[in-house]
Amino acid sequence: MPMIKVLKVAQTDHPALRQVAVHVSLDQIPDLVHGLDRAMRRCSGSPLGIALPQLGVSLRGFMLCGSTKGYAQSVHRFCFNPDVIGKGSEEAVAREGCLSIHGKTFHVRRATSVRVTYLDQAGRHVTELLNGELARVFQHELDHLDGILISDDCRAIPHPDDPLPAPRRQGSTITLLAAALATPTPFMARRSRTSHWL
Ligand SMILES: [Zn+2]
Repeated sequence: MPMIKVLKVAQTDHPALRQVAVHVSLDQIPDLVHGLDRAMRRCSGSPLGIALPQLGVSLRGFMLCGSTKGYAQSVHRFCFNPDVIGKGSEEAVAREGCLSIHGKTFHVRRATSVRVTYLDQAGRHVTELLNGELARVFQHELDHLDGILISDDCRAIPHPDDPLPAPRRQGSTITLLAAALATPTPFMARRSRTSHWL
């Protein structure tokens, strides 16, 4: 029986998004790969990643796709029982969206390079160095496995480029969001407004 039956992406109030997910066993991986792949294909906006808790499954796994910057291999990565085992000293702030937080983006500070480990789609142990956008997406998805969202106080930070909300704008969420989106960050500048959800 398929482990992932529901392909609708869970939103912020879903309990699976607030739990620390449990480790995946090797025999679960084929079914989870199939479910993640099916879910990703159904998502609009070319998301860069999706995590199992976003599908209501509280297991430690996610899929990355969409960017091969610095990598000649496949654009898809399936990562199970992932971990960050080292971080570079440099950090960067960039705007992120999340499939589980509809219509909002947040500035998040993350390491620009991370050494990571995970089991791939064949259950092989992988250790690799990720840089730039791929490093950011990996950290975003790993947060999902620990019940952390980009809207949380520990992640969302004010950004100096954001325009201060003028009194006349207050009460107009759409106007404020449009103003925020009009200020591109390096991360946003490489992607369209609708393609950075993860
Ligand atoms: Zn997300």
